[in-house]
Amino acid sequence: MDVVLKRGRERSLLLRHPWVFAGSIAAVTGEPSPGEAVELVSFRGDWLARGAWSPHSQIRVRAWTFDPDEAIDEAFFERRLHAALELRRRLGLLKPDTAFRLCNAENDGLPGLVIDHYAGWHVGQFLGAGAEHWKEAIVNAAMKLLPAQGFHERSDVEVRRKEGLELTTGTLRGEAPHELVEFDDSGLRLLADLHGGHKTGAYLDQAVNRRLVRETVRPGDSVLNVFCYTGGFGLHAARAGAGSVTQLDQSADALALALRNAELNGLSGIEYIQGNAFEELRKLRDAGRQFDCVILDPPKFAPSAASVDKALGAYKDVNLLGFQLLRPGGMLFTFSCSGHVTRESFTQVVAAAAADAGRDARILRQLSQSPDHTIGLQYPEGEYLKGLQLFAV
Ligand code: SAH
Repeated sequence: MDVVLKRGRERSLLLRHPWVFAGSIAAVTGEPSPGEAVELVSFRGDWLARGAWSPHSQIRVRAWTFDPDEAIDEAFFERRLHAALELRRRLGLLKPDTAFRLCNAENDGLPGLVIDHYAGWHVGQFLGAGAEHWKEAIVNAAMKLLPAQGFHERSDVEVRRKEGLELTTGTLRGEAPHELVEFDDSGLRLLADLHGGHKTGAYLDQAVNRRLVRETVRPGDSVLNVFCYTGGFGLHAARAGAGSVTQLDQSADALALALRNAELNGLSGIEYIQGNAFEELRKLRDAGRQFDCVILDPPKFAPSAASVDKALGAYKDVNLLGFQLLRPGGMLFTFSCSGHVTRESFTQVVAAAAADAGRDARILRQLSQSPDHTIGLQYPEGEYLKGLQLFAV
């Protein structure tokens, strides 16, 4: 079955960007079913790629391969997952009890497929019609390449609706994960809820940055971890010998797990604040609190392109408060996980926040997601997490 593109619309595929939007298609021969492989052809009739047909999505085809001789079959998924796994091995991630992203969708040549591994369990998200269609083959390949106690599905992600797919969860193979699964996060033990936790259970994308906080915090420092979820950054700070750690989140469940994580690691004396960061940070500021290190890791403020302006306002506000709570000579770790917010505009907003706070700061490091959250060179959408390590004067 052929999908013929309009004139000029072959350009992004020639650059190996895997998406074909509905508006780029001139004609379709045959009646492909959801997830079925189709041949992508230019208006001149040149073969471009082979991809998965998704009749309900604006992203109508996602390319699996740019090699005309590569068939889409069980062996294809095994090859791609093998390559993804070998990269994680090379990154030193295949240690007992670790958690890492085994497959990062488009960025690992498998559009719409996320697989995270947590100390013996695979957790998969099937985010496109193609990944859904090949689910059985994908689970087979993952279990063969990296045997696990079970393969659990967490396809309870809104983007599935755009693909015409229902939201679904459940164990696809082997045992269901324990209620909480314990894994190693750079030497700390952390618990993750693989059934109902955020993402597939934890923010594995921040692992490198948690390690950086651990290396940066000095014994005795006071540390404020805003949007702490289950406490990771704050616990690494505590392990580094911080004199005080304050964990702030609006979710009581997240803080309860942060407390359990602290106990699991024998870390005590941590302060917990439950509430809306925009209000709680003002209260801390008005009470005259000051910290040596502040971490700001808010949720995705811009879930769509239309919400970017509003999101930038929220980033500005929270960073202004961050600077106001930071002692001169303090360190700020500030993040945005909104794919629609560029690094440039995020940096501008943080700079404006510093100016409003009457502060100077130096960028010590540009931060990004952990390397197992690969970024496809031809797929800029893959870089969603950006951050700054700032030294505030
Ligand atoms: N830093 C964490 C991940 C943060 S996820 C880690 O490394 O694991 C974002 C968190 O922000 C979630 O736990 C969510 O409950 C919390 N959150 C969202 N909106 C909030 C708000 N307005 N005030 C406080 N917390 C908020």
